[in-house]
Amino acid sequence: MQHIADEMPDTWVRETTAAITALGHTVADAHESAIVITLTPDNRHVLDAADDDTLVIGWTERAGVDWGISSDGAHVPNPRPLNAATPAEIAARVRTLLATGGLSEIPHAMPYATPDDCTCTEQTCGGIIPDPECPDHGHRLNPAMGWHLAGTVLCRKLAADRQS
Ligand SMILES: [Zn+2]
Ligand SMILES: [Zn+2]
Repeated sequence: MQHIADEMPDTWVRETTAAITALGHTVADAHESAIVITLTPDNRHVLDAADDDTLVIGWTERAGVDWGISSDGAHVPNPRPLNAATPAEIAARVRTLLATGGLSEIPHAMPYATPDDCTCTEQTCGGIIPDPECPDHGHRLNPAMGWHLAGTVLCRKLAADRQS
């Protein structure tokens, strides 16, 4: 267990809390050692979190801003770097984390047809990561397609439906 305990400046805590709240998330607690964010059922689903778990944003001198899942809002067994420094950056990363369970926003396109000569990379959800050179979905054609982010609840549901 690692306790995220180094002190964050007051103004920084306030600005970060405001930025996270402005994106529609609920901050359960914010003080000099942690910002604790309430998880919705969809958030818990993408993060593989338990019912009482929260998302904790902490700060350490050594590692910068970390995030982790916590069952008590104070102890984070597995802190990971958030790769963000300013309150706006942190809030944007939190939004991505809560939507996808990770930090990278990989868009999946849902094609209307996947012909044999398609060179895109098909995903388990049935979506594709379009290849710019694909004769069906490439840049030159730029076809209309639906989009979602990899790892979101929708992406996981589509993948589960295809497996059943
Ligand atoms: Zn294609
Ligand atoms: Zn997907």
